[in-house]
Amino acid sequence: MAATTSGPNEGVVSLTAGQGRQPCGAGSRRPTVGQPRLTGATASVSLPAVNGPVVRVGVLGCGTVGSSLIPLLQQRRDVVAARTGLELDIVRVAVRDLSRPRPVELPAAVFTDDPEGVVKDPEVDVVVELMGGIEPARSLLLTALEAGKPVVTANKALLASHGPELFAAADDAGVDLLFEAAVAGGIPIVRPLRESLRGEPVQRVLGIVNGTTNFVLTRMAEEGVDYDDALAEAQEMGFAEADPTADVDGHDAAAKLALVASIAFGAQVTADDVTTEGIAAVSAADIAFAGRNGFVVKLLADAELHHTAGGPELSLVVGPALVPDTHPLAAVRDSFNAIFVQGGAVGELMFYGRGAGGDPTASAVLGDLVDAASNLSAGSHGSMGRLASVRIRAPEEARSAFHVSIEAADRLGVLAAVAGVFGEHDVSIASMEQESRDDADVELAAGRARLDFVTHVARAGDFNDTLDALRGLEVVREVGHATAVLSDEPGDDR
Ligand code: NAP
Repeated sequence: MAATTSGPNEGVVSLTAGQGRQPCGAGSRRPTVGQPRLTGATASVSLPAVNGPVVRVGVLGCGTVGSSLIPLLQQRRDVVAARTGLELDIVRVAVRDLSRPRPVELPAAVFTDDPEGVVKDPEVDVVVELMGGIEPARSLLLTALEAGKPVVTANKALLASHGPELFAAADDAGVDLLFEAAVAGGIPIVRPLRESLRGEPVQRVLGIVNGTTNFVLTRMAEEGVDYDDALAEAQEMGFAEADPTADVDGHDAAAKLALVASIAFGAQVTADDVTTEGIAAVSAADIAFAGRNGFVVKLLADAELHHTAGGPELSLVVGPALVPDTHPLAAVRDSFNAIFVQGGAVGELMFYGRGAGGDPTASAVLGDLVDAASNLSAGSHGSMGRLASVRIRAPEEARSAFHVSIEAADRLGVLAAVAGVFGEHDVSIASMEQESRDDADVELAAGRARLDFVTHVARAGDFNDTLDALRGLEVVREVGHATAVLSDEPGDDR
């Protein structure tokens, strides 16, 4: 932490409208954290006046989240000061392109295209990283932490791949590395898991943590829109990136699941440990089957702790799943996110809200920034604690109920032949629905019937072997996309 521009008490803190919007920036003449607090003068409204130490903030990135954070901080600056005794000043902002106009009120001199200069600047006390990507973000955060500067980040991709290294660096330096915004944007989940649920034996965390895919699946289910049109609509409305691969392929959800599982189970987990499937293969027929049978299709991020004879084991899966429409997660529509936590003592909890977007994400970042500044001022810091290495359940050992749709020859004896293949692989059928060309709204080639099977909970490896065997059956024309089914049968990993 840098010292020391001690300066005169700048007088009355008047919480009148607009004051919080005044540009703040380099050249503040207040004492910095570490300096004794000066006595404040009177305030014009009921909040106590504060002329406390200034915490100087360097922000890396002024895109969607950064350009929401800066005005939010300026707006809330006086309230934060009144509640914490600290004044947060943004003194440096790093961007890639200095010529691009920014929707924020800061002196031009605050901006730089040298992010390394920001983290090394002795005038910066706390670093907020909102640039994204792995490098140079990783090196910049390590430099900041090694210099003893607390870091706040929203960068899930970075933490999900290099979290253990960064958490260790923060612990070694004795400073905060806070990341509430990285898991579910504006939804508070990191702090509840780290603090409120510290004593809770968490058994399972199930989340809808990607707004783009949830929006697409909602449009497909409720409006009958096809996948490509729903995705294009998400892009037009600003939910989906120009390149939506990380969202639709499930990688964004996998990064978030890795982070949430690390906290919930105190385990060393990275995104590579998560079995991941996206939503591209979810068909209109899958969605229609779900609707007819009391389910909705959701991209679920699922982490569950299993106590086995060989010790604890974590199953970590991201993929489309049929969720019973009575489950709280079924009601999470459009671009909303939710995280459903099952604890041994607390029972079931659900955290719901906006998992992305500039303003909701900035809200979570600002919460962390206030914490980091307060801890720095108090000479304390939080810690992820020691993360244990844990066995990850192999994908073929995961257990779930499944749905699969099969097109087969529409003739006598076919059903018995198909059902027999399930039995031969230890997969028990819970229900079967048959559609033929004669049914309204069913598009099938002549001589074909569609058979929809839902299984009881089965080992994923056995279910996949069943599908392979079905593909080799003479009467089977096509084996559709298989989807996990969230069930309350014992032994379900989904
Ligand atoms: P963004 O709009 O792409 O903004 C990135 C910012 O970082 C831009 O201002 C860019 O500068 C700057 N930047 C990138 N590389 C840089 C470099 N090498 N040197 C200097 N500046 C650099 O990204 P965002 O959506 O705000 O997301 C920021 C972080 O928050 C990401 O980690 C993201 O995963 C996370 N997050 C975002 C959301 C969301 O809803 N957007 C939600 C949760 C978490 P230019 O403007 O000059 O290009």
